[in-house]
Amino acid sequence: MVKLQIDKALCIGCGACVEGCPHSALKMEGDFPVVDERCILCGACIDVCPVAALSIPREKGKEDLSVYRGIWVYAQKAGGGLHSSSFELLGKARELAKILGCEVSAVLLGDKVDYMAGELFAHGADRVYLADHPELATARTEPYGETVLSLVREHRPEAILLPATIEGRDIGSYVASVIETGLTADCTELGIDPENRNLLQTRPAFGGNIMATIVCPNKRPQMATVRPKVFPMPKREERSGEIVRASVAFSAPCRVEVLEHTPIAGGCSIEDANVIVSGGMGMKKAENFALLKELADILGGSVGASRAAVDAGWIDFDHQVGQTGKTVRPNLYIACGISGAVQHLAGMNHSDVIIAINQDPQAPIFELASYGAVGDAKAIVAELVGVLKEKLES
Ligand SMILES: Cc1cc2nc3c(=O)[nH]c(=O)nc-3n(C[C@H](O)[C@H](O)[C@H](O)COP(=O)(O)OP(=O)(O)OC[C@H]3O[C@@H](n4cnc5c(N)ncnc54)[C@H](O)[C@@H]3O)c2cc1C
Repeated sequence: MVKLQIDKALCIGCGACVEGCPHSALKMEGDFPVVDERCILCGACIDVCPVAALSIPREKGKEDLSVYRGIWVYAQKAGGGLHSSSFELLGKARELAKILGCEVSAVLLGDKVDYMAGELFAHGADRVYLADHPELATARTEPYGETVLSLVREHRPEAILLPATIEGRDIGSYVASVIETGLTADCTELGIDPENRNLLQTRPAFGGNIMATIVCPNKRPQMATVRPKVFPMPKREERSGEIVRASVAFSAPCRVEVLEHTPIAGGCSIEDANVIVSGGMGMKKAENFALLKELADILGGSVGASRAAVDAGWIDFDHQVGQTGKTVRPNLYIACGISGAVQHLAGMNHSDVIIAINQDPQAPIFELASYGAVGDAKAIVAELVGVLKEKLES
């Protein structure tokens, strides 16, 4: 483990480092400072030392990063097939791999899942690392994490992209913590610094008030999770690739057994909806969201909301669209009484068609909308519901 080095031959015992440490990790013992476990290697003490007596031995034993090549995508399964995020990440991985001049691989774990490899090739994978074993029938931290770890140790990718789902976050953090590499959660954009082959991982930080671009220059693989629907679905192409079968063996049975899957009552997955009817403060009260649900049901969609409506307690956070909520890409997004703040637009601006209903003709949402209706949202939605019901009944 890397530790702050104090060169006693240079140290003059001035105590500047003790005062300069923001974590109170240094104290004077006799003539020299000593460091304890609170040190996070931030380097603040190095900056204030007048005689350069402190250092972090980063370069010592530095790993040869050039042996790590290729971008991997963790392929998550869903309902007998693959989660759409697996394909979205493959599309982005291809873009990044083109800059790096490397291959894209998918990592597929499961029991009798060979048949899924074809779709991974069709959406951008050059290679599929396939771990097929009865113990991998359902995603559980230990067997999945250990399997991905052993693949990483053997084949050494330079970057791994995972969906920011419960499963992707779980496996990603397991792998990153064991191999002590960096993982950036919930990225909203990914890029490449071609000179250093660093993955530029952008995500909201400080409660969404800034967008931070994070790099992991000293360790490989670089790991990132990305929320579903942040990247578009790549075009499916007729292409094939190589399947590399992983030898899977477990020394002990997994300590966790999955007994059954029970969907969360009232849970919603707006990320997968093709139609979203979303409400904001212009809906005036919680009860009026029943009207949005009625319209969403007729259109076969789901109900979304602005953060203000969620904060008002009108609807659960699960439904929040935007920078600190969910990212959606429906065919149709109907924004009812939503002003169109940038943080809201960040979560829905890739919708195919946007209809905005707002009583203020100057509302920013109209700048993005494909169609707009100026008027009272509740009255217009009620009228729409009435007309559609009539059409359905006739
Ligand atoms: C760090 C940070 C992160 C954020 N993250 C998110 C996020 O993820 N998602 C998000 O949505 N917001 C987010 N916000 C909040 C965002 O800035 C806005 O405050 C929020 O989106 C506003 O919600 P709203 O449009 O429902 O409400 P308002 O801004 O109050 O707008 C209400 C709109 O309804 C219209 N209206 C009023 N009465 C009627 C009526 N009778 N009929 C029709 N229209 C009517 C008004 O003209 C107005 O345009 C975030 C803010 C910050 C600072």
